[in-house]
Amino acid sequence: MTTKLSNQDIYDRIYAAISERRLLPGTKLSEERLAQAFHASRTRVREVLLRLGQELIVEAHPNRGAFVASPTQEDLRHVFAVRRALERAIAAELADRFGGQPIVPLRGHLDEEARARARADRAALARLTGEFHVRLAETTGNRLFSDSLRRLVALTGLVIAQYDAQASSACPDHEHTDIVQAIEAGDPKRAERLMLAHLEHVEQGIKPPEQPSNEINFERIFGVEGAAAPAAKARARRRSAR
Ligand SMILES: [Zn+2]
Repeated sequence: MTTKLSNQDIYDRIYAAISERRLLPGTKLSEERLAQAFHASRTRVREVLLRLGQELIVEAHPNRGAFVASPTQEDLRHVFAVRRALERAIAAELADRFGGQPIVPLRGHLDEEARARARADRAALARLTGEFHVRLAETTGNRLFSDSLRRLVALTGLVIAQYDAQASSACPDHEHTDIVQAIEAGDPKRAERLMLAHLEHVEQGIKPPEQPSNEINFERIFGVEGAAAPAAKARARRRSAR
């Protein structure tokens, strides 16, 4: 890398690496090594990491440095609560304003998704399905929508990466196409309903890793399974109460 990168360039590259899961949750982001990689000062790298920290994409630990964030299940619920609130509004607004005509950039994006799916390119599909939601937000022309969605999609990607590094995408096939069709048909109610259903499916599709602590079957582990069936225990209790 010989050209001098701006802070925004550095931000964009780190952000892309995280949202495309080339940098996974928990990865240490060493200021020194990033500074070397980007041929930039540590001060500038620190500024970029601070911004990513404010956006919850990076976690700073005192004395240990910065790490790619590891969102919890509660974080995931919060992300989807905000996504539902914003994206239903985005879908309805687009149907109101642009209904009755094909929306060429969105169609182009759907074609790209279909091609990535056809060649089973999981990395590209992960990036494109997330980008679809950002594209919709951008189409409104409201920067607050698009900036918010960019962060929320990155956070969603982080959770997917954390829970299942092999998952290509949590967006079910065809649902993006259905949403675009409802928008183009100028049906805000339907666009909003399809978006809410889609986000519901996406959220449900993100399965947390198994939590063995809640699932442990001590009876099976210690070989006492069936030793005291509930009915037998109840009889025993009745007998001792007499
Ligand atoms: Zn989607």
